[in-house]
Amino acid sequence: MFCPFCNEPETKVIDSRTVDRRIKRRRECTACLKRFTTYENYDIIDSQTLLVQKKNGTVEMFNRAKIIAGISGAIKKRPVTAEQIERIADGIEERLTSVRGKTFTTSQIGDMVLEQLAALDNVAYIRFASVYKDFDSADSFVKIISESFPER
Ligand SMILES: [Zn+2]
Repeated sequence: MFCPFCNEPETKVIDSRTVDRRIKRRRECTACLKRFTTYENYDIIDSQTLLVQKKNGTVEMFNRAKIIAGISGAIKKRPVTAEQIERIADGIEERLTSVRGKTFTTSQIGDMVLEQLAALDNVAYIRFASVYKDFDSADSFVKIISESFPER
């Protein structure tokens, strides 16, 4: 880690802690003795094993950005914040990585997103469902909605 002040390659870590799922390190330059902070992100995805099978049968690596993009499309003009979307994506990523070596299907992941959206915003849920689910008929769409929002 190069010192941002004098470019000295030797810096020492004087403090290290985990903040918001990142490792925060306080460093001190061994040459000019100035201190600075670095953040390291966990790479919690095991790219060798975390695979997603698409509807057409092809398998690709899990892509968190796709989940965020999908949800973002569904929440337009809805009271859902970017932080809430991030939290959904984080939760799904954690769920997937907790089962190592398993290939998930896009519809399983879609269901996980729907589960989260149902608790957050009904309109976003229905928008996401209409894009994500394969509806053979209007009936199945109505069925999904009524399953998700049982009358009380
Ligand atoms: Zn320095």
